[in-house]
Amino acid sequence: MKAAVSLALAAAAVHAAPAAAFLPPLRNQFLPRLAGIGDPGHVALTFDDGPNPLSTPHFLRLLDAQQTRATFFVLGSQVARAPGLAREIADAGHELGVHGWEHRCLLRYGPRRVHDDLARACEVIEQASGHRPQWIRAPYGVFSTSALMAAHRLQLEPVLWTCWGFDWTAQATGPSVLRTVLKDLRGGGTVLLHDSDHAASVGSWRSTLAALGPLLEVCARRGLRVGPLADHAVRPVSVMVAQARRLDPGVQVGRGFHAGLR
Ligand SMILES: [Zn+2]
Repeated sequence: MKAAVSLALAAAAVHAAPAAAFLPPLRNQFLPRLAGIGDPGHVALTFDDGPNPLSTPHFLRLLDAQQTRATFFVLGSQVARAPGLAREIADAGHELGVHGWEHRCLLRYGPRRVHDDLARACEVIEQASGHRPQWIRAPYGVFSTSALMAAHRLQLEPVLWTCWGFDWTAQATGPSVLRTVLKDLRGGGTVLLHDSDHAASVGSWRSTLAALGPLLEVCARRGLRVGPLADHAVRPVSVMVAQARRLDPGVQVGRGFHAGLR
């Protein structure tokens, strides 16, 4: 159980996939804020690894047609290459969160490098979009203690996901992405998808795009509102820590973890 609140344990999860969950069921149970669990009548829709001029505009068009807003966890280096696209995302009413400067596991870097990379990413996002990012999702979902400390200093809220589409592989299809998301989708959940193949199989975003319309339909049928993390009302960290302690009074919430989540 203590392992569930140690955010530095995820080294083994670092592989080629653009996202890696460490102990997702435990995470959802014990770290609801980190998992992005919020308003039970709402689903937070999030996209990682963009912006990408080839793929992101397709998502923006579909979301606009569906009058749906989302949170885009962007890479600073990608925003630097396409600042106009980052502005377009923000102007369409979507949120921009930080996904790092480059798509590299943050465990590779020391405290100073992590902080400088995240600060640089925040700056380029703010310059391009006019908005200071509020959220951070580390590449591969792997937060080191240094990353959490840096996030705290930069006033970024770490958030992962409760379900994903496994949409980054060459084998993914629209139906497979939809099926995978729906397997774990509940009201209050946070969905991880990718609007870019930057760290995935070439063209994999097309499967994600194919799944998006049907996913929004299912949510509407279930009476679930879909929107960005800003509208998701994630529970305060005090509730989260109290819950973890109730379940295991001996649980140690590390300094980096506690500070990182405020
Ligand atoms: Zn990613």
